[in-house]
Amino acid sequence: MPRILITGGAGFIGSHLCDYYVARGFEVIAMDNLLTGNVGNIAHISSENFRFVKHDVTNYIYVDGPVEYILHFASPASPIDYLELPIQTLKVGALGTHKALGLAKEKKARFLLASTSEVYGDPLVHPQREDYWGNVNPIGPRGVYDEAKRFAEALTMAYHRFHGVDTRIVRIFNTYGPRMRLIDGRVVPSFIGQALKGEPLTVFGDGKQTRSFCYVSDLVDGINRLLMSDEVDPTNIGNPAEMTILEFARRIRELTGSHSEIVFRDLPEDDPKVRQPDIGKARRLLGWEPKVELEEGLRRTIEHFRGVISRGAR
Ligand code: UDP
Repeated sequence: MPRILITGGAGFIGSHLCDYYVARGFEVIAMDNLLTGNVGNIAHISSENFRFVKHDVTNYIYVDGPVEYILHFASPASPIDYLELPIQTLKVGALGTHKALGLAKEKKARFLLASTSEVYGDPLVHPQREDYWGNVNPIGPRGVYDEAKRFAEALTMAYHRFHGVDTRIVRIFNTYGPRMRLIDGRVVPSFIGQALKGEPLTVFGDGKQTRSFCYVSDLVDGINRLLMSDEVDPTNIGNPAEMTILEFARRIRELTGSHSEIVFRDLPEDDPKVRQPDIGKARRLLGWEPKVELEEGLRRTIEHFRGVISRGAR
């Protein structure tokens, strides 16, 4: 039975990866410092092949015994998180990736880095293909995340080239689903929470900026296909169905049956004006494409947040 270490295993995507690999008979170690992760996300996993270790991966990582796969998902991941946690965000992208790669080298494990569409910054090429180098402001407030992930990609490629570590890099575009934090400030939980509570939906800027939203089960399937493939260069995984944020607010209002008004707030600094993955490479190499339609994914997510709100949780 292969052993897999998932850093950030108590986070939104990390916990879905734990479910996925436990269900497929892997021995899973979830590691998380619980800065933005939550043990509630993995509390339902009762398998004896599952273990949680509370650890900050910017410090030396010790794991007893063999490890076949390492998925490095630890990082604050929402714009307000990295505004509040700029140093931790830089440290986990840089020092945390270094420690996780060091462990992969030691254990001869295959390593997969969770990278991001943020490496493309405010893109001047649309949609974004993997060979686009991006347009990132290194010294702006988002730079702490974008540059940490860009450094993490560079470090991953260096460990691959110099130490022969078997590596993969996934560039994850906006992903949504159950277990996002209601208060993490990202647009999906914000709008759904506001709509369900009858509060105004806060559209930043004029709402003409675009995003493309991928349901978490599609993302996890794409990540597994990439992990099991031979592809070392970065690969986009996301849903190309693009829409403006104003359209998105209206969809959320319809799907929740809410009468909340839409209000406009200042656009955060360096907020990308457009974002859409080109998934030609994932289609060709991995035979992957997203299956869950936005409406279906949002219904499941809204159901989840109704439960969270009715329990009075955050
Ligand atoms: N956004 C918004 N209202 C909110 C939260 C976010 O209009 O309450 C906008 C944000 O400015 C961005 C888009 O929604 O243009 C997606 O933001 P999110 O924080 O989810 O992720 P990003 O794609 O910017 O990393």
